[in-house]
Amino acid sequence: MRKHSSPIETDAVIVGAGPVGLFQVFELGLLEIKVHVVDSLGYPGGQCIELYPDKPIYDIPAIPVCTGRELTNNLLEQIKPFGATFHYGQEITVVERQIDGRFFVETSRGTRFLTKTIFIAAGVGAFQPRTLKVDGLDSFEDSQLFYRVRNPDDFAGKNLVIVGGGDSAIDWALDFVKDSPYKAESVILVHRRDGFKAVPANVAKMHELCDALEMQFMIGQVAGYEEKDGVLTHVKVTGADGVTRLVPLDAMLVFFGLSPKLGPIADWGLDIERKQLKVDTEKFSTSEPGIFAVGDINIYPGKKKLILSGFHECALAAYGAMSIITPEKKVFLQYTTTSPKLHKVLGVETPEFD
Ligand code: FAD
Repeated sequence: MRKHSSPIETDAVIVGAGPVGLFQVFELGLLEIKVHVVDSLGYPGGQCIELYPDKPIYDIPAIPVCTGRELTNNLLEQIKPFGATFHYGQEITVVERQIDGRFFVETSRGTRFLTKTIFIAAGVGAFQPRTLKVDGLDSFEDSQLFYRVRNPDDFAGKNLVIVGGGDSAIDWALDFVKDSPYKAESVILVHRRDGFKAVPANVAKMHELCDALEMQFMIGQVAGYEEKDGVLTHVKVTGADGVTRLVPLDAMLVFFGLSPKLGPIADWGLDIERKQLKVDTEKFSTSEPGIFAVGDINIYPGKKKLILSGFHECALAAYGAMSIITPEKKVFLQYTTTSPKLHKVLGVETPEFD
């Protein structure tokens, strides 16, 4: 066992500041547990910010529609009263159980904690988009080759080649045509076959737009490229017919999905199934007492990788952790509507009921 100099002592460390990690702050906050949150990205929001900040989400209960960015901002507003401390741009690299039952946790930047519990809300792990394997093409990454859209306006008026057959590829192809506020000059979708993993209604819309000559769809694979004076000018697309065609472009967006990369979490000795953490559905505890897993990172029978499922998991994990954090205290379910105690922690006035 190592000797450690003055780590931050805390009740809970949350790994991941995606929507589920943020809501975990809320659920623990209601139980008066102050937390530290660590995220490898430099900002909160997880997939909502990294992958679809401006896309509408329609299945958050009681919010008919909000974008990924709005959801993140609302969650940040909702957790404000709880004063969580965020540690961005660092990954947790070390987790060691101590003799007193707590965990010693260290991040890649040397931030250290002694914590009673850990809540892993690491989603698909560190974001690692699957890349297009064409020799030399990577030199155009972030100038003309992109694996994510940070700012759609950057692509307005450009000739775009979009590669992929999942939701992200189809959604962005639709977003850059026709009445879009950031309409591209042209959009060519390239996919290796005429079958898509994307939502069928959007695939049908894409075909309609192709019929109306608003965009094009090519079956094929990117096999090479041409450049002039360091600028990517064409990609070579080899079709199912074996013919290679030159496609001119200003920018190429590739959406091959994210490869789940658990990173160091895989070495913490937790039960793992298909790169996800196995949990019970009573407390969302992993195989290691005191370590909980919520959101996209966990797996259990019937798991659905939806934000609302993650939110539910946070509530149960928070209650589940109380027997470790404050074993001497009995915890009762209280309503935020009527509980003066919860009003106090939320920093709001207790309303008078007739
Ligand atoms: P994530 O959002 O993945 O966040 C995890 C965070 O953990 C990230 O910020 C990451 O940087 C951090 N992290 C990972 N590993 C480490 C580490 N070792 N150390 C420190 N930090 C780490 N769901 C819906 O319910 N409705 C929708 O309409 C919907 N639309 C979607 C559209 C698209 C295009 C995509 C890709 C997903 C969509 N989803 C939707 C799914 C939804 O985004 C996820 O279910 C949700 O983001 C999961 O939240 P999370 O907090 O568990 O994980």
